[in-house]
Amino acid sequence: MLETTTVHTTQRPIIVLGAGIIGLTTAVRILESPLYHQHHHPVHIIADHLPNDPLDPKYASTIAGAHHLSFADDDDERQRRWDRRTFQVMYDEWRADGEATGLMVLKQTELFVGNSRHLKIYEEHPGFTVVDQSSLPSAIDYSVSFTSLTMTPITYLNRLIKRINQLSDGNVSIHRHHLHSLSDLSHPSVQAMIGSRAIPLAVVVCTGLGSLTLGGVEDKTVFPTRGQVVKIKAPWVRSGYTRQIGGLNGGEGGERTYVIPRADGEVILGGTREEGDWMPYPREETTRDILSRVVEICPELVPKHLLAPALERKQDNAIEDLTRTSGSNRKDAATMSSAHSPSPLDSLIVENLVGFRPSRQNGTRLERGPNLVLSSKEEVASESAVVVYNYGHGGAGWQSCWGTAEDAMALLDKSLS
Ligand SMILES: Cc1cc2nc3c(=O)[nH]c(=O)nc-3n(C[C@H](O)[C@H](O)[C@H](O)COP(=O)(O)OP(=O)(O)OC[C@H]3O[C@@H](n4cnc5c(N)ncnc54)[C@H](O)[C@@H]3O)c2cc1C
Repeated sequence: MLETTTVHTTQRPIIVLGAGIIGLTTAVRILESPLYHQHHHPVHIIADHLPNDPLDPKYASTIAGAHHLSFADDDDERQRRWDRRTFQVMYDEWRADGEATGLMVLKQTELFVGNSRHLKIYEEHPGFTVVDQSSLPSAIDYSVSFTSLTMTPITYLNRLIKRINQLSDGNVSIHRHHLHSLSDLSHPSVQAMIGSRAIPLAVVVCTGLGSLTLGGVEDKTVFPTRGQVVKIKAPWVRSGYTRQIGGLNGGEGGERTYVIPRADGEVILGGTREEGDWMPYPREETTRDILSRVVEICPELVPKHLLAPALERKQDNAIEDLTRTSGSNRKDAATMSSAHSPSPLDSLIVENLVGFRPSRQNGTRLERGPNLVLSSKEEVASESAVVVYNYGHGGAGWQSCWGTAEDAMALLDKSLS
């Protein structure tokens, strides 16, 4: 629904489309920029979904794990730079304000099956170590550990909104609105909503998966990569684990199982990566598969009073053998053996979640687009708005958000100066 206001300003606004982790970090960097400090252009954030809404698979930022675990290939300097920068910014935030930020610093262990190579970027993390081979379980070929970060999405997103309000001294408005097309930015009802008849100076498009259908963008190379996770309450788990079966293939390839503890005591267990799958509800067989996989890599998930039945079942299913078989075969086998069997973690489940990662064939789109020519009802001449795209982060939006926000701001600055 449109918010109407009678106060109209003549200064050209800057519009940020989207209020996920990408839109909100981009808005923060705009508000901190010399451009904003010199000219005080009103900034408006327009989004369909806002952080305190009921969870929706299409709003990836609120469903995400989320941890900082880069997939950046050794020769992908762009992605490495974004991920590195984001780690620095978040680590500093955590150092300054602790877990109230929604961030948790923890020891992350990466377990590899069928692959004995870690990404070079892990070596840049504090505490990087190659785990002694003799201490590894037989099903694991190679392992590294290092210090990393996890995020509690709603806490972090709400803090960003608070920061946006503080930085702007009330000069930013957040509007819940579904924009059908970029050209609607000069529609009278949108102008009434933002309280300005002036044509926007710039539009930063941070619409994630919405970039597939948003008129004027309609990027057909954007697609959902479905992820299903289980959220449990297990505050005793304070370390992160990921098992990677097969190579990443320069992106997010292979099969990943992960345990992501959050600062609030909840732990996210995952996961799946189902390209082009729009199924918005959890699948029970997937939940069973995840619950059996995570216990293999993190037995401490199961509290003492639930331990005995867990071990019995582990023997019955001979789960360790399954880790030796590859990808889909393994999944079929796991599904067959445990499709409906109870898990020792069942009583800890808070909820099962599904989200669509905003994937894009050629990776994140971070570039300036052609200017958007707009004319309002009263204007005879049309004016153009600078357009910057910042979407399509796939499964890496949280761990690259500050790096991409800073690049988007730099593009905006260059385009307007
Ligand atoms: C299960 C799962 C686990 C994940 N784990 C991790 C992880 O551990 N680490 C990591 O880095 N990433 C992870 N991700 C990926 C991460 O969540 C995404 O990359 C990130 O959230 C993308 O952010 P975004 O702001 O681009 O998109 P979204 O969060 O989807 O936000 C898009 C915004 O645009 C708005 N919008 C879209 N279209 C329109 C329109 N037409 N009009 C108005 N508003 C519109 C939406 O309402 C929303 O506000 C995970 C994702 C999933 C699903």
